[in-house]
Amino acid sequence: MLYLLQVQGEERSLLFETSKAIRDNLLGNQVFLRGLIEYSNVCQKDCLYCGIRKSNNNQQRYMLNKKEVIECAKFAYENKYGSIVIQSGERQDALFIAKITAFIKEIKKMSKSELGITLSLGEQKPEAYREWFEAGAHRYLLRIESSNAEIYSKIHPQNQLHDFEKRIQALHDIRKAGFQLGTGVMIGLPFQTLEHLADDLLFLQRIDVDMVGMGPYIEHKDTPLYSYKDQLLPRKERLELTFKMIAILRIMMKNINIAATTALQAIDPMGREKAIKIGANVIMPNITPGSFRKSYKLYEDKPCTDEAPGECTECLDARIQMIGSKISYNQWGDAPHFTNKTITLN
Ligand code: SAM
Ligand code: SF4
Repeated sequence: MLYLLQVQGEERSLLFETSKAIRDNLLGNQVFLRGLIEYSNVCQKDCLYCGIRKSNNNQQRYMLNKKEVIECAKFAYENKYGSIVIQSGERQDALFIAKITAFIKEIKKMSKSELGITLSLGEQKPEAYREWFEAGAHRYLLRIESSNAEIYSKIHPQNQLHDFEKRIQALHDIRKAGFQLGTGVMIGLPFQTLEHLADDLLFLQRIDVDMVGMGPYIEHKDTPLYSYKDQLLPRKERLELTFKMIAILRIMMKNINIAATTALQAIDPMGREKAIKIGANVIMPNITPGSFRKSYKLYEDKPCTDEAPGECTECLDARIQMIGSKISYNQWGDAPHFTNKTITLN
C-alpha cells in the first residue's frame, strides 16, 4: 500500500486502470446519485478542522424547516435521483431526533417509499439510530476522520464529546441498528503520514465497511487547525493522494460503494469526475436551497454555493457522460457488499 500510494508514471496509470476495471466488471461503469440536503449548520461539536464548528462565531446559523426539506426531497424524486442524504451539524437533543424521524417518514410517504435515505448526522445514542432506521432510513455515514487515535485526538478537542473510542463504538451501533455502514477519512491532515493513510485503508477493511466517503482535508481560516496551514501538503498532492486511496481501496474492497466527494471538486473543478474515472461510483449533488449553501461552509472554496439544484443536475449528467460513464437514475444503488452479506445472513 505504501508503495502504491507513491507510484508515478506508468505504474500510476496501471493502478488507476486496474481499479477502474474492477469497478466496471463488478458494479458496472455507472454512477449512483445521492441528493445532498444540508439540513442545518448548528453543531454541538468543535472539531478543530470544520468551518461550522460550534465556536466559529463568524458563521451565521440556519436550520431548514420541514417544508424546505421535503421540497428538496421532492426535487430529488422528480429528477430521478433515486436517493438522498440528510446531513447536518451534530445535535443529540430529543427535538432534533424527533424532527429527523418526521422528515424520514414524510419523505417515504411523499416518494411512495421509492427514495432511498442516507443519514449523516454525527454520533447519536443507539436508540436514535434505531428510531431513524425503523422510520425508513437505511444507510448511515459517519467518518472516523482518522483511524489513528493520536491524530484523532490532535484534530479534536480533548473531551468526552470528541472521544475516539466513542466514535468507533458509534460505528458498531450504527451497523447494529441495521444500517448499511459508511465511514471514511480526511486525506492530507496535519501530522498525517503515508503510513497513517495505509492504516486507514486497513481500518476500512477491518470494519468491513459498506460505503466510503473520503476526501482531501481543506483548511478553513476560522478554525484552530488553520495554524498548521504552512505544514500541509500542497492541495494538488492531497488530491493525488485521495485518488490513490480510492483506487487502492477499490482493489481491496471490490464491491463497496465509494463516493467521489465534494471536497475533490474544491481543489480541481473536475476532481469528482476524475475519481469516477478511477473507480468511485457515487456522487452527491448538492440540492440544498441555494440561499443556505453559503452557510454550510466546512472549508474554503466549497463549490456549487451559488447554483440552483436544477443547473447542477444538468451539468452533472453532461460531465459524467464526458468521462465515458453514465448516471444510473431511479436507483437506490446499494453496494453488493451489503446486499450479498444480507442474503448470506438470511
Ligand atoms: N456533523 C456530522 C459529522 O461530523 O459526522 C456530519 C456533517 S460533517 C460537516 C461531514 C464531514 O465533513 C466530516 O465527517 C468531515 O470529514 C468533513 N469535513 C469537515 N471539515 C472539513 C475540512 N476542513 N476539510 C475536509 N472535510 C471536512
Ligand atoms: Fe460538527 Fe460534523 Fe463539523 Fe464536527 S465535522 S464540527 S460534528 S459538523
